[in-house]
Amino acid sequence: MSRVYNFSAGPAVLPEEVLREAAEEMMDYRGSGMSVMEMSHRSKMFETIIGEAEADLRDLLAIPDNYKVLFLQGGASQQFAMVPMNLFKNRVGDYIITGQWAKKAYQEAKLYGTANAVASSADKTFSYIPDVSDLPISDDADYVYICENNTIYGTKFKTLPNTKGKTLVADLSSCFLSEPIDISKYGLIFAGAQKNVGPAGVVIAIIREDLITEDVLPGTPTMLRYKTHADEKSLYNTPPAYGIYICGKVFKWLKNRGGLEAMKEFNEKKAAILYDYLDQSQMFTGTVVEKDRSLMNVPFVTGNEELDALFVKESKAAGFENLKGHRSVGGMRASIYNAMPIEGVEKLVAFMKDFETKHGK
Ligand SMILES: *Cc1c(COP(=O)(O)O)cnc(C)c1O
Repeated sequence: MSRVYNFSAGPAVLPEEVLREAAEEMMDYRGSGMSVMEMSHRSKMFETIIGEAEADLRDLLAIPDNYKVLFLQGGASQQFAMVPMNLFKNRVGDYIITGQWAKKAYQEAKLYGTANAVASSADKTFSYIPDVSDLPISDDADYVYICENNTIYGTKFKTLPNTKGKTLVADLSSCFLSEPIDISKYGLIFAGAQKNVGPAGVVIAIIREDLITEDVLPGTPTMLRYKTHADEKSLYNTPPAYGIYICGKVFKWLKNRGGLEAMKEFNEKKAAILYDYLDQSQMFTGTVVEKDRSLMNVPFVTGNEELDALFVKESKAAGFENLKGHRSVGGMRASIYNAMPIEGVEKLVAFMKDFETKHGK
């Protein structure tokens, strides 16, 4: 068996320990004689799996008691609709546009009411985070919306916007559990699992209880109401059971590694190896303003499209997968989520140095 270093933005690398454990339990989960994939979601055994997953997640993030944890489906993209459908009372949402995902959420909200773009970094190809200390927040805004880590452009909010008392809603898909956060600053966060915590098919939403109401937009399907899932503890219908089981294993893996403070330290150290090299390279440059750099997604370019293509090709042959940048921006992008080992980044940088020596001026 040989494993590559997988720099994919998502679905992405998972901890080897987790994959190995799942493989061992595949045919017979703890004496049940079946795989978790084959198990009733109403069984005692699965109840324990989902219960422990939630408890471990609450522990990791120190989630206050007045927040619900929901395991949903439909991808992060479905949240772009669920957020306005459930939170629109005045039918006004203020959006900070820092990339494709924020823009998609903004456009989706327009289907249901007024979405205001209160700030944007589109003028410089989303290579920075706008100043969010004093935005023109609408008096009647139901919430202020951000995409906290921009997977495609490699930027991250280092300070949260001043929402002037409005509820903060955040898409954390690509930075979820990469560092500690203060949940009480948010009304609602959500994250697709396939970036940093598990397989595609699970979306985790953490939502303050007062935002879970029956007062949703008329016509909101039962399945798209937070209340439906909150009332039934994510078991209103069949949840993405196997995915939740893997997420649960990742939560335990994170706890064993010392939790999110330790993860933050590890991720900072790991990202610095790559950024430090980019900052002194004559060939490669990072595309993001230094203060707004993401710890998870690192885009870079050579400034020459042919050289970029050659780099992607040669790196793949050397065992570094998925370094091609997003189709909308080109260049390269290394996604270095929690499960990417430090050796992966060290070896990538060594490979880049060699490439630079070989192809540089
Ligand atoms: C990947 C991604 C999405 C879309 O996720 P899906 O699960 O494919 O819908 C949304 N937001 C962010 C920040 C992402 O990285």
